[in-house]
Amino acid sequence: MTTYDDSNIFARILRGEVPSVKVFEDDTVLVMMDIFPQSRGHTLVIPKAASRNLLDADADALATAAAYLPRLARAVKAATGADGIRLAQFNEAPAGQTVFHLHFHLIPVYDGVELGQHGGGKADEAELRDIATAIAAAL
Ligand code: AMP
Repeated sequence: MTTYDDSNIFARILRGEVPSVKVFEDDTVLVMMDIFPQSRGHTLVIPKAASRNLLDADADALATAAAYLPRLARAVKAATGADGIRLAQFNEAPAGQTVFHLHFHLIPVYDGVELGQHGGGKADEAELRDIATAIAAAL
């Protein structure tokens, strides 16, 4: 399927049907912790406007969401003490996309530490909540 399907997990989180560990939310974006993080502090930025990915995205909605990235990247870096931040975004399954609602990954990178697998092990929820609080405080 290449049309937007609003039963995807992020659409359900945006509707409040499924819990998430939130960092920040307003009318246009939801920022939350990835529950299968590739590193400590792996954060997802989810535009609220419905689109599957970059390929069907509205340019204005995308620009609005992208405008949050520098501030969020700085907050993630400050809160985690990471040495760098990787920005990732995947379009369609062959490119690595697993949830079909547009989102950006902000992945902290620590010197000498390899990133975990994309969609690997589940994080401890209390630890995620602590990191989310620290990132929110650094915003
Ligand atoms: P992508 O492969 O770019 O579509 O990324 C989807 C991301 O969502 C993966 O990194 C998953 O670990 C993450 N993910 C899946 N389900 C949830 C969830 N319920 N809450 C938070 N993150 C999730």
